[in-house]
Amino acid sequence: MSRVLELRDISKSYGEGANAVRALDEVNLSVDEGHLVAVMGPSGSGKSTLLTIAGSLEAPTSGEVQIAGASLSSMSSNDKARLRRRTIGYVFQDFNLLPGLTAAENVSLPLELDGVSARKAHLAGLAALEQLGLADRAEHYPDQLSGGERQRVAIARSVVGERRLLLADEPSGALDSTNSEAVMRMILEACKRGVAAVVVTHDAHLASWADRVLFLRDGRSVDHVAPDPSDSSLATPRA
Ligand code: ADP
Repeated sequence: MSRVLELRDISKSYGEGANAVRALDEVNLSVDEGHLVAVMGPSGSGKSTLLTIAGSLEAPTSGEVQIAGASLSSMSSNDKARLRRRTIGYVFQDFNLLPGLTAAENVSLPLELDGVSARKAHLAGLAALEQLGLADRAEHYPDQLSGGERQRVAIARSVVGERRLLLADEPSGALDSTNSEAVMRMILEACKRGVAAVVVTHDAHLASWADRVLFLRDGRSVDHVAPDPSDSSLATPRA
């Protein structure tokens, strides 16, 4: 099975000297294609920093990041930008849809930015929307969609084309439990098609659907478990 994401001994410090904050402290994580890893931990434990580094948006202070076998440290900023356009999908908590574009235009935008023709990008966008049950909403603008539909459009945008790594920062944070489950189910569907996913969540029930759960505390990995769906104690790391 091919490894999509590999984080090796990742540390990240912000600031210098006495004021330095160690956001991540020698964290390791590997995710193979088709696998879903949930990341849990209290606020400030380094979850967003981990996603930002895995998404090549920030460099670690030390340690090595590999995406689809390529080491980020040896890539130019152009190479990293291409990786973000083609290989990595990012789902933000606040959707980040562009209000002046329809659902289909929002979803096909990353492909168009990558130089795919407008027609091909539109077809790929429609296919991604269809996979998420939104074919009939393709021509709607974000303000004509419900919160759950907007989030589905955001997920369609994160998996459009041949994306291999999906990074989601509390994708269900703003949704009710029905919509949260729907979002997680869509991410699982993407995993079934071979996408590797890393999802930050506070919801132990949703985390129990993952292949593995990485618990962070003060920037350190405190536990790394395969969840037991019947175990409701996932919210608290085991001693
Ligand atoms: P979480 O997502 O788990 O809430 P974060 O990754 O956002 O945690 O933050 C981890 C730690 O790093 C926190 O102490 C936070 O204040 C600090 N931090 C995050 N980003 C920055 C930044 N850009 N500058 C300074 N400190 C930061």
